Amino acid sequence: MSKFLVFLLFPLLLLAYPKHVGETLRELSPSVYGVFGTYEQVSKKNRGFISNAYFVVTREGVLVIDALSTYKLAKELIQTVKKVTKKPITYAVITHYHTDHFYGVRALKEAGALIIAHPWSDEYLADEASRRMYRARLELLGKGLMKGTELLRPDITTQSQLVIRLGGEVFEVHHWCKAHTDGDLVIWMPKRRILFAGDLVFGGRVPFLGSGNSGTWLICLDEIIKLSPDILLPGHGEPLVGEENIRRQVEWTRSYIRDLRSVVKRLYQEGYTVEEVRNRANEELLKINPTYSQLSVFFEVNPVNAYYLYFEIERELLKEGR
Ligand SMILES: [Zn+2]
Repeated sequence: MSKFLVFLLFPLLLLAYPKHVGETLRELSPSVYGVFGTYEQVSKKNRGFISNAYFVVTREGVLVIDALSTYKLAKELIQTVKKVTKKPITYAVITHYHTDHFYGVRALKEAGALIIAHPWSDEYLADEASRRMYRARLELLGKGLMKGTELLRPDITTQSQLVIRLGGEVFEVHHWCKAHTDGDLVIWMPKRRILFAGDLVFGGRVPFLGSGNSGTWLICLDEIIKLSPDILLPGHGEPLVGEENIRRQVEWTRSYIRDLRSVVKRLYQEGYTVEEVRNRANEELLKINPTYSQLSVFFEVNPVNAYYLYFEIERELLKEGR
């Protein structure tokens, strides 16, 4: 490799993984900020910083959306907020209790925020699966990166609509239906027409279908179209700006879910086992639309999605008596 190339690559390598969450800070609309994790699965290299978190600064305080993957990352998020404003962090709304969105809640709680989540979070925490996941994360990231991370319950739960008024801003917290998880919340700022969509819509990444309901998710996406936001801020990936972009991404999410469901249903009905369905998922789905392969984490996540969908489709067919 020439010296020149090394010289060129070196800064890129340094930039690849932010050393501090604050390096990714962007103001997305006046007083609305985001920090952006990489498009990857959790690893030591990315320190678990694979998801986005947002905050809105109001006259009276700050509302944070999502808590990132670890206590450390959430501490960095708080430092980032403090660089922008001296206002206190009043609320933190957690879009769903997946590790990369809620593991940092302790830091936000220590900073004085009231933690708001769907009641599903309690169900999830009571389940052995949450402790298994914690142990797996500990093993993957190591004690250093996971230091201080605790599975904490929210202070307030909501499963229909909660309206938060803070410093002249209005935040509607909705749970539309079981979708990405059984307890997805979205946050809608009606005056600003900004939707914090959690993981209901991914900006250019394969959605994870393993812990909600893909059938109702398809229907739920209509709620986004009905709201017609100007800006959609996803839990992963790039912000979506403008009705056309948002609609395109919503429809893309819908077509991915619909196509994978049809593949899994067909293979199930043809008698393939769950392992065979998982192994064939990529090849079969790419026959329908080869462009899916261009999505980040497609090859890793798509077989896992097919695995979970197998059981969901099985439940649906048994219910229908087929
Ligand atoms: Zn998620």
